[in-house]
Amino acid sequence: MKSTNTTQWFPPSQLAFYFDQGAWSRGTTLYLQDQVLSSQLSPDGDGWRLQGQVQGNDAQPYSVNAELRVSAGGNLSEWRSGCTCPVGRYCKHGAALGILASMQGLALQKEWGPEGPTPEVLERRSQMEKERALSHAEYQVRDWLNRLENANGPAAFTLPGSTHDQFVYSLSVVQTAYKPVFHLAVKRAAQKRSGEWGKAKKLSSEPSAHDPIWQTSCPLDRDIFDLLKACPAASSFSSYGFQGEVKLHGMPGQLLLQLCSQTGRLVSDEGIPLRWQDAPETLVGTWREIKSEDHQPDGWQLSMQPQRPGVVFGLNQPPFFMDTAQGLCGPLDTQGLSANELQVLTNSPVLPESVAFKFQNQLLERLGPVPLPPVIQKMPEIRGVKPRAVLDIAPVHPAERVVQGLFVGELTFDYDGQRGFWSGTQNRVLIGQGSQARLLLRDLPSERKAWDALAALGLETFDANRLVLPP
Ligand SMILES: [Zn+2]
Repeated sequence: MKSTNTTQWFPPSQLAFYFDQGAWSRGTTLYLQDQVLSSQLSPDGDGWRLQGQVQGNDAQPYSVNAELRVSAGGNLSEWRSGCTCPVGRYCKHGAALGILASMQGLALQKEWGPEGPTPEVLERRSQMEKERALSHAEYQVRDWLNRLENANGPAAFTLPGSTHDQFVYSLSVVQTAYKPVFHLAVKRAAQKRSGEWGKAKKLSSEPSAHDPIWQTSCPLDRDIFDLLKACPAASSFSSYGFQGEVKLHGMPGQLLLQLCSQTGRLVSDEGIPLRWQDAPETLVGTWREIKSEDHQPDGWQLSMQPQRPGVVFGLNQPPFFMDTAQGLCGPLDTQGLSANELQVLTNSPVLPESVAFKFQNQLLERLGPVPLPPVIQKMPEIRGVKPRAVLDIAPVHPAERVVQGLFVGELTFDYDGQRGFWSGTQNRVLIGQGSQARLLLRDLPSERKAWDALAALGLETFDANRLVLPP
């Protein structure tokens, strides 16, 4: 298979800068799926004009117009794109056409005459398109066969038999000072006949264009090398130039993991083949009982764990999981919690019972989707009670009556004799203190109805739950 190494015009990662994450990732997919139907490059002053047709969601392909500048050193210094799709500027179709130009632009540029492309260039270009389509079909088939072989659980997969080194992408979870984080490393290894990988060697520099490893690589590997540059280096020693190991971060990090999975050469650091799974793995909070030691009180400690054993997670941005038992990796469902919140939650202190009670309101407010400590969970509940809206009224000072009207009313809700007012839409609240404490499940629709009825009478909110009837 041919490497695209020699024809690359500028690194596609430099183009990513001009697009938002969604447009860039969907544009990459359009490019990889060969949805760029045509492309034309012509000189325009100091720069270039790029035009092309890209197949989108409509039956008719969209027309993209772009202007770009590329330095003699092969760096993209300027990019502007517009399109006939509803998004228009800097859309995914522009991104797809730009990636094609970055991969093939130099070859087109070299042979461009003043009258446009010669028949030979057109012929070569169509040949190139055919080769690209063919190689793309090859990955799809290979990926499909891999998935078919692994459909009934993990099994050793086989690539066309070869003892040459291939690129292998190794995913590992690294314990940093405060949290676990996934790193991805490029290695080289030869595959045995059994499908297992031989000892993998780390790459300290990018293999030269003459290295035989490129013969066993595919254009996806090239894209992966480009995306590696968009991720933070794993160690400060490689912050410039080639990065053989990176921290997975942001959209490039996620795309990187997906592309590595598509090569069929993504493995755990123990060499277990991994495949990307779109369905997220859920992280749940559980409280463990901690028995006292050396005068420490008994208590409860929170641990955040995936639901299935053997699954490990990394609090990257976004967070991921790895399941070496089933040979999977993918996104982690954090139930809306940010990586920083998870980091704090996974480092909970031991909560003695009395302390948990003392902070019960703060725990209710801040734990969000995480279950409460069992001592609070066991608290008697008030649920299924229809609240009675109570409006206590007091006269308004004569001097204020011109503005506020005759009275000011204070709205509270009576749940079976327990009266109170709670701002916001949190549906679990604590009422009472100590042994009298109860967990109230509010009936928000009923509360809302009372508010609406008062508003319909012309009452206006004056301050939290205080209402007035202006003259
Ligand atoms: Zn578009």
